[in-house]
Amino acid sequence: MSADVLPYLGAVAVATAAAATWAARLAPTARPSGTVPFTEPEPGVRYLRCDSPHCAHKTYPHLRQADGIFVCSNCGGLKGAAA
Ligand SMILES: [Zn+2]
Repeated sequence: MSADVLPYLGAVAVATAAAATWAARLAPTARPSGTVPFTEPEPGVRYLRCDSPHCAHKTYPHLRQADGIFVCSNCGGLKGAAA
């Protein structure tokens, strides 16, 4: 083998390594696991920020009551009540 083909062999090695790592990234096992399946929210549920100290201003599903007031599903606090 002459020394003239050595740069080409190096280029082939670099391209082969890039193709192998690209294929490994596309493999199904490379995808993150533990994803949560999508669930349809109940009708009348709104995701509102809860201002109670228990919920610490995080967003939780609030269920609408008959009088238009929303009740937090995490702490039972009322949202939209005329205070
Ligand atoms: Zn709450």
